[in-house]
Amino acid sequence: MRTALNILPISEWFTGLKAPLLIAGPCSAESEEQVIETAHGIAKIGKVQILRVGIWKPRSRPGTFEGAGDEALQWLKRVKTETGLLTTVEVATPMHVEKAIAAGVDILWLGARTTSNPFSVEQIAQALKGIDIPVMVKNPVNPDLELWIGTLERLNRAGIIKLVAVHRGFYPYEKTRLRNIPKWELAIDLKSKFPNLPILCDPSHIAGQASLVAEIAQKALNLSLDGLMIEVHRNPSQALSDAKQQLTPLQLDLMLKELVFRSPSSQNSEFVDKLEQLRNKIDSIDQQMIDLLAQRMRIVEEIGEYKKKNNVSVFQLRRWENILKSRVEYGIRLDLDEEYIKNLLQLVHKESIRKQADILNRKDKLSAE
Ligand code: PEP
Ligand code: MN
Repeated sequence: MRTALNILPISEWFTGLKAPLLIAGPCSAESEEQVIETAHGIAKIGKVQILRVGIWKPRSRPGTFEGAGDEALQWLKRVKTETGLLTTVEVATPMHVEKAIAAGVDILWLGARTTSNPFSVEQIAQALKGIDIPVMVKNPVNPDLELWIGTLERLNRAGIIKLVAVHRGFYPYEKTRLRNIPKWELAIDLKSKFPNLPILCDPSHIAGQASLVAEIAQKALNLSLDGLMIEVHRNPSQALSDAKQQLTPLQLDLMLKELVFRSPSSQNSEFVDKLEQLRNKIDSIDQQMIDLLAQRMRIVEEIGEYKKKNNVSVFQLRRWENILKSRVEYGIRLDLDEEYIKNLLQLVHKESIRKQADILNRKDKLSAE
């Protein structure tokens, strides 16, 4: 389905925006002191523009800490006046929307569980009708781009044009090093569909542990995502939710000093010339690769005809095993990644099989006539 979102570029609504946009704060609001102390620690760094905090927490199991609730909205007012940071909270019901707006929260965000549920999204969108506030939309729990886009659309139809997407990774069904699996290609797909839509990364929920946050944040910056949302707590080991993945304000400061912030392009003419030359080389190699693939396919077709004539089946296991082994070994000798070569060959082989099966089927049809 084709979609056009009416998105106001962030530079037009975020006066004083520093790119990349940095958002940090506790997973949950636990107490006034915890929120205020963490906010001051973050503000002191001088790079973060928005304080995030969950005050109504969607927890997987009942009986776990569900955030401080309404009371925490007053603490956010203190954050704004004392630190100058803007504030953002997660909203999951129309009541949250109403309360957050009444308390002067600057930006709202929809969490991964909410984005996964079109009924909740629709209710929130209705509650936002006629209200001018930026809304950030985390990706749904499962890697379903349509659901992510659908949420943006529902909000957009309700009149929200200050939209931001947040890539926080996807639920892994198997045990992995990371808590949620990043699917950068999905974020890039979203960016190419909606070039005006800023996309942030939440490296904390992808990493699941503090020691991996910087690695994920750097990946996001390398891919030119528009900013980061990072979980920061004055004392992570005592946090009532997501204790393992939160950084201290000091750790955040160190990480921001070490991250390499790359610009998506450069005005330097030497750089532009060199890049142009290298891109020309890539263009030429790609063309040769496609020529070779076409040549290969002509031979595959010839083999198909030959197999047909001799009544031999398309798939020859031994031959395929040999191809895979010898090509992978050769690729490794040239410093190419094993998985990369395997995936590439599998793709080429799948298409060859399809082509030869077509040739054999054509013959079957003809002989049936
Ligand atoms: C959060 O940001 O604390 C949170 C609950 O995140 P998510 O919706 O990405 O799980
Ligand atoms: Mn969290």
